[in-house]
Amino acid sequence: MSGALTIVGLGPGSADLITPAASRALAEATDLVGYGPYLDRISEIRPNQTVHASDNRVELDRARLALSLARSGRRVAVVSGGDPGVFAMAAAVFEAVEKGEPAWRDLDIRVELGVTAMLAAAASVGAPLGGDFCAISLSDNLKSWATIERRLKAAAEADFVIALYNAASKARPHQLDRAFDFLRNLKGGETVTVFARAAGTGHAEVTVTTLAEAKASAADMRTLVIIGSSSTRLIDRAGRLPFVYTPRSENS
Ligand code: SAH
Repeated sequence: MSGALTIVGLGPGSADLITPAASRALAEATDLVGYGPYLDRISEIRPNQTVHASDNRVELDRARLALSLARSGRRVAVVSGGDPGVFAMAAAVFEAVEKGEPAWRDLDIRVELGVTAMLAAAASVGAPLGGDFCAISLSDNLKSWATIERRLKAAAEADFVIALYNAASKARPHQLDRAFDFLRNLKGGETVTVFARAAGTGHAEVTVTTLAEAKASAADMRTLVIIGSSSTRLIDRAGRLPFVYTPRSENS
């Protein structure tokens, strides 16, 4: 049997947000490759499936391992949180293919999509992505802080709703405050700001605040931050979290 490689999105966390197609790709694999905590999310690993757990930072090594296994005839699933194409493993696999052995290009490689954190976070508060939006990763492991600021500035000037991935981590505790300070100079302090932690899981925590009040200490590595456009607004509800939405029409 010829080998194959599927990069599978596990969604934001809860089992019922894994697509049936992703579950099928996992069930059909002989080998499961990925970051340990993502592999731990797979509810059923059969005895004949081999698990290759690795650290979070070694994405290219992991991609090469997966490609080598597929080349040797295995059916490999590389797992990724959320969607594998959003700040995740699918791009690492294609980078390895581009730079690696020519034979890897002939492998049956597929991407099995998943629900990305931005959508789970948005759904948990209403419809903040109802107007034009963009997504920016705040991690400067793979790009410079100057690039991040240039993109934040462009997004603010274009009045996009901004979804911030990799908003905070232990290794980068100050960047989110730096990003908030930077954006406060470009956008109104009253701009709606949402912190969604573990969105799309049974223990989601969502807070709604303003850009003026936003503090990095409210975020960790499982938090997605949404910063509204000038038309993003709240619908207040007594004793409950307000709905957050961005109207689709410029004029409403
Ligand atoms: N491929 C993933 C994103 C990987 S980057 C996806 O499509 O969702 C990792 C970042 O995603 C985290 O630092 C956090 O900002 C965000 N994230 C992942 N899962 C999340 C969740 N359940 N709730 C909120 N943010 C999450």
